[in-house]
Order: sequence, then structure tokens, then C-alpha cells
Amino acid sequence: MEIQLKLKQELKKKPEGELSFGSYFTDHMFVVDYTEGKGWHDPVIMPYEPIPMDPACCTLHYGQGIFEGMKAYYNKNGKINLFRPMENFNRLNRSADKVCIPEIDPELAYQGLVKLLEVDRKWIPEKHGESLYIRPFIIATEPFLGIKPSKTYKFFIICSPVGPYYASGLKPVKIMVEEHHVRAVIGGLGEAKTMANYAASLLAGEKAKKLGYTQVLWLDGVEKKYVEEVGTMNIGFVINGTFVTPSLDGSILAGITRDSVIKVLKKWGISVEERRISIQELIQAGKDGSLNEIFGMGTAAVISPVSELKYKDEIIKVPDYSSDSLVMKVYDYITGVQYGDVEDDFGWTVEL
Ligand SMILES: *Cc1c(COP(=O)(O)O)cnc(C)c1O
Repeated sequence: MEIQLKLKQELKKKPEGELSFGSYFTDHMFVVDYTEGKGWHDPVIMPYEPIPMDPACCTLHYGQGIFEGMKAYYNKNGKINLFRPMENFNRLNRSADKVCIPEIDPELAYQGLVKLLEVDRKWIPEKHGESLYIRPFIIATEPFLGIKPSKTYKFFIICSPVGPYYASGLKPVKIMVEEHHVRAVIGGLGEAKTMANYAASLLAGEKAKKLGYTQVLWLDGVEKKYVEEVGTMNIGFVINGTFVTPSLDGSILAGITRDSVIKVLKKWGISVEERRISIQELIQAGKDGSLNEIFGMGTAAVISPVSELKYKDEIIKVPDYSSDSLVMKVYDYITGVQYGDVEDDFGWTVEL
């Protein structure tokens, strides 16, 4: 399918100084339309601008919508690196299936992204540590009130230049384990990157922030005993030198960073367990000293060391991190691959 180019005459001024996450958008976006009976059609690169929308548009009422998050990095050869991009488009289609959105050809989505990055190349920050955050998403656009899948959709890719998540080295965060609210249950939408999951997480997140915790760690929705994920990141623990992370049982998002960490650690000969982990096990491991590290894994921060978990009246702490900690080594390796500074042993990056 030919991608049409409708380019802007007058380009925006790029922001100067610190880039706060997700606040600035590039000059163009990639858009593809879907109409029942016709499929996905009319792919176009066009100016980034507000989109006209019928107030009855069903995404607005029933949340039929999905998204992805990925990044483009300037590498040391002055080229652009993408990190495992097809994984994102394949996951977008898995999310699509969950909420009755028609799948989009991953190759078309990828070609649109490549074209968009060509057109908006000057928006990719050159400073090491900065990157261009890429947000593909699909919304249901049919104007009607009623519960059934939409007959029309729009796929977009928009891009936002972002600063380093940690301005000065990795900074451990404190996380609150949520004991009342739940994010998702098995059989629900937890493994889809769909809008509703994030709406469901806001209240608990705000409560945690008031108590001085940056985010919430969710427990399973049925027994509230087993650790799931953070909602923007997956979570992992180093217990007695073994990396342990919750298995993908249907209520957890299959993070690409999580998958990358598992593959790297296995290659380094570290034992990895994907299984259920109860909060009691973590409390115990924290007390007897076998809990060495806790860290989150997701595209935005890549790796996020955790210093403390709070669960009811218990505080689960890990020893201070040092350059010998696994979390530092994994962070250095994965960001090194993303910026093209270290050998890409797995063939994960695509250079543009
Ligand atoms: C996006 C996301 C993650 C992290 O996935 P990555 O592919 O590593 O960026 C984890 N949990 C949820 C709920 C997410 O939406």
C-alpha cells in the first residue's frame, strides 16, 4: 500500500532545555483508516494536528482503544536505532484481538513508522540518554451509542521527544503494594495494552503518591496474594541470586523489556524463574536477607531499581544498590544496545 505524504509547510520550533515526558509532539503523524468491508486503507503521513471527532464516537464512551509504546535512539554512528520494533506491532495486534479491533498489517505499521521517522528525523534528540518516544494507537471511530464493536477505526503513530528518565544515574523508587484495588483479573484485559486498564489504575496510584510512593505494585485480582506488575512496568526480584518474575498468566502485560531482561540474564548464566510469587514470600525474603534486588522493567524507564515495597504495615527493603548489582549491569547492557554502544548479541536493534 502506497503511503501518501502530506507534509507541513511551516515546521514547529523544537523545545529547548529539559524534555518532560510526553509533553511535546513532532511535526507529523502517520494515520491509517479502517472501514468494515474495505479493511485498512489510505495510509498517510500528515501534519500533527487535532482530529475532528463526533461526540458519539465509540472510543469516547466505551473505551474500545489500544496503544503501544516504543522508542527511537540516536546511535553513535549518527543513525537511528529502533529496539525490537516488530514486537510492538505484533503485541498491538494481540491487544486488538482482545477488544474486537481488526488487526493491522505489522509491515504497513512498520513502514509508516520508518517514513514518519524520516520526515521528522530532526526531532530525534541527539543527546545521549534522550530519545524519541513513539506512540502507535488505534481508536474506534464509529459515531453511535450502543455496545458492539465499531465498524470504523483509525490507527495513528505520534512521536514525542523525551529526556532521560533518570537525569543523574539510576534512582531507586519506593512502591506501594495495593491491598484493596485490583488492576486486572485472569480472563480480563490485563494482558492487553488497552485504555481501560490505565483508568482502573489511577485512583490507587493517586493514593500511593499521597503516601510518598511513586507507583503501585498490583496483586492478583482474586486472592490478592500474588505479585503481578506495576502497571507501567513489569517487576522482578533477585532472591538468593536467582532472578524471579511473575509468570505471564493472562492478567499481566507481556513486556518487551521483561522479555529482554530474561534473555540477557539467561545468556549470562543467571538462573531465571517465571512463576507465582506471593507477597508473603517477599516479606520473608526481605527479613531473612535473601531478597537482594527488586526492579521494574518497561520501555519508558527501561530498568527501575526499587528500594522499598510497602505492604500494609510491612516495609520490604533491599540492600543499597552498587555497580555490582544485577540491576545496574542489565540497565547498562540494554541501554547500551539501544544506543548502539555495546555489541547487540541478540540482533535486537534495527538501524535506520
Ligand atoms: C507497556 C507496559 C509494560 C511494559 O512493557 P514494555 O514492552 O517493556 O514497554 C508493563 N505493564 C503494562 C501494563 C504496560 O502497559
